[in-house]
Amino acid sequence: MIVNIVLENKTRVLDRLFSYSVPEELQKKIKRGCRVIVPFGRGNSKKLGLIVEITDNPLVDVKLKDIYKLVDYEPLISEELIDLALFMRDRYLSDLSSAFQRVLPPGNWKDLEKLIYLNEEVDDKDISDFFSIPKEFKTAVKRFDENTIENLIRKGILKEKYDIKGRIKPNLVEYYKINKNINLEAKLKNAPAQEKIYNFISENEPVDKKTILMETNSSLSSLKALVKKELVSFELKNEFVKVTKEYKKYSKIYLNEEQQFVLKSILNSDKNKFLIHGITGSGKTEVYLQIVEEMLSKGKSCIILVPEISLTPQTIMRFSGRFPGKVAVLHSKLNQREKLEQWQQIKNNTFSIVIGARSAIFAPVDNLGAIIIDEEHDQSYISDMNPKYVTREVGEFLSEKLNAKLILGSATPSIESYYLGKKDVYEILNINKRATAGILPKVNIIDMREELKKGNTSVIGEELHEAILNNLENKKQTLLFLNKRGHTSYVFCRRCGYVMNCDSCDVSMTYHKYNNILLCHQCGRTKKKPDICPNCGSKYIREFGAGTEKLEEYCYENYPEAKIFRMDADTVRTRQEYLNVFNKMNEGEIDILIGTQMITKGFDFPNVTLVGVIAADLSLNVGSYKATETTFQLLTQVSGRAGRGDYAGEVFIQTYKPENYSIEASKKHDFIDFYNMEIEHREMFKYPPFYRIFCINISGNQRIATRQKLFELQQHIQAELRENEIRDIEIIGPNPSPISRINNRYRFYTFYKYKDNNEEIKQIFKSILVDNKYNVDLQGYKLSLTFNPTNFI
Ligand code: ADP
Ligand code: ZN
Ligand code: ZN
Repeated sequence: MIVNIVLENKTRVLDRLFSYSVPEELQKKIKRGCRVIVPFGRGNSKKLGLIVEITDNPLVDVKLKDIYKLVDYEPLISEELIDLALFMRDRYLSDLSSAFQRVLPPGNWKDLEKLIYLNEEVDDKDISDFFSIPKEFKTAVKRFDENTIENLIRKGILKEKYDIKGRIKPNLVEYYKINKNINLEAKLKNAPAQEKIYNFISENEPVDKKTILMETNSSLSSLKALVKKELVSFELKNEFVKVTKEYKKYSKIYLNEEQQFVLKSILNSDKNKFLIHGITGSGKTEVYLQIVEEMLSKGKSCIILVPEISLTPQTIMRFSGRFPGKVAVLHSKLNQREKLEQWQQIKNNTFSIVIGARSAIFAPVDNLGAIIIDEEHDQSYISDMNPKYVTREVGEFLSEKLNAKLILGSATPSIESYYLGKKDVYEILNINKRATAGILPKVNIIDMREELKKGNTSVIGEELHEAILNNLENKKQTLLFLNKRGHTSYVFCRRCGYVMNCDSCDVSMTYHKYNNILLCHQCGRTKKKPDICPNCGSKYIREFGAGTEKLEEYCYENYPEAKIFRMDADTVRTRQEYLNVFNKMNEGEIDILIGTQMITKGFDFPNVTLVGVIAADLSLNVGSYKATETTFQLLTQVSGRAGRGDYAGEVFIQTYKPENYSIEASKKHDFIDFYNMEIEHREMFKYPPFYRIFCINISGNQRIATRQKLFELQQHIQAELRENEIRDIEIIGPNPSPISRINNRYRFYTFYKYKDNNEEIKQIFKSILVDNKYNVDLQGYKLSLTFNPTNFI
């Protein structure tokens, strides 16, 4: 028996599978996903590895070494997740180590300490006492022998869980019980507070401290007094730390006809992949909720993905309020320990619903029934770090492996997903009406060139201005969207044209008036704003362009009576800050909310009747093949925030390019129209989904040498393409990246464009760039490989 393992490591050289033989006595216990300790290298130093494959054929033809030791009885992760890691390595040309990191428990898997704890009560007092607090595996084996423990684990009496080595700290909770006592009355005489607690415990025992104090509204000292009088006593139990709180019940809503049809189509079909195209406010979430309900009733679990910024209380409230106690929430603000605890409880099946941002798709749920990807078009579903996975594709992989339903939903599906729908890879299901009385808002396109001609140079044009005044008068709420934070875009000299740039990056710095500094949005370096031009000495050096901060200032001046709030990465940094804005909006304490992307998602406030888009062109000028699509999506999403309640909504989109088809289509809320134009465009210009773009990025300390290194790699690639007579491939580069220097590292890229899914070409890339077939010395350089990159900075 042979196992192929991946080593715990961060270095490029060790980033592959290694074969080991398995000694006789371990062969029965070996499973994929268990950790092993193996001898490595000439010195046979001990290294930790994870069993990826069990096979009869070694990867190399040499005498294999035996593994030393098996660390886990039960695999850390399921076989499907192991297969998924291998899939990601191949599909996205990721390194093995990063691909496995994604599917393994959070944190460094070397640091995971295996703990054993009591899962079910047993008569054996020795065991139940000893394991009531989790014990390190080593400690447990010293006390009982290995076979006993292994048996108890197999019977489900004991369970394994993981914690971070060296930081193991059980979460001990005091559980109180009544002591049988004869002299009760004397002891409780004249102590009504204690009596109240005593009675509560006797009715609810065993009951934890927090509940006692909360339910009886008592002080800790009264409880302590009871202990001292020996009327009650407590036992310590170890529990998981709770990260989710209780939510108000969220009752089931009776589905309308369209929603009903979608639900039935998904549940009754033998197909597995669906795309729900439902306009904003069409009640997609309620459909998701009822899919989940059905899955739970069949004993299956669900994963629900939302973009990080829509991990709002609204979404969590709906799921937790419908399925209390069953929902795990995974968001980026959890600390290491909380992440691990959530992971553990998902694996133990304590939670059967997981809600989270893209990486929640790797949650180790048991018996997966459905993966729901809400707002599936969102760019945050594409990972920008290795493995650079597309969440939808990971979903497809799991759906096929586990026979689970994959459901994508959006008001503005991505061009790629909709194209797959047209090709019958997904079944497209439509919801065309809003679920509540609200109709879609009227959208007005404002040509800002006309405003300029009229002599209006302010950020808000006349029509939007009038509408804001009107809305304030009617006591309704307004959202103003501007996708640029800070006060001004850049600072430049009107005499000589000098622009204040960052010293370490080739970008202009953004002026932030609030703390009066220039900030580089790439590396975070700051500078003081100069009074005179450092180049020519003139005093005509000024801010130019506008960000949210400037817009806020403008609103304060022009709408002095209004309650105004700005929401962007500068004012809202924590979840709590986010919640505060949220509650203020709900309670009508904000009249005008100014914001970046943060306000385009997950906001469902019935009193918002006006939405203003200050500069719709910002997202058009980013130089990505997805720019038009992104603009359409943003405009449609932000427009959809208006008129969700009983009042009609109106939207004003200010632009210098009113004729652009993404802007025209958003006026009519017409996705299909937009899709038809965009897909034609994509085919004509050889973009995805028809062609695949492969981008090699390189960065290094010296400009010329870095370019040269990329060129060297490129020559190897071109030679192999020639050898294999592959001609249908376009090569663009090496070119300096749009931001040619970040943090004093010079950056270059090359694009390859070829027909989608040509595996032969991909193998060439892999052998040269990942396996480094020609031993190109890459010391000091950083290579980054991306398929269909969505931003080009
Ligand atoms: P979407 O996610 O499609 O943008 P939501 O799920 O947020 O839309 O639904 C918008 C509103 O419609 C919510 O307030 C929701 O409670 C309500 N809603 C959903 N389904 C129904 C229904 N069948 N009848 C009445 N109201 C509904
Ligand atoms: Zn910088
Ligand atoms: Zn100057």
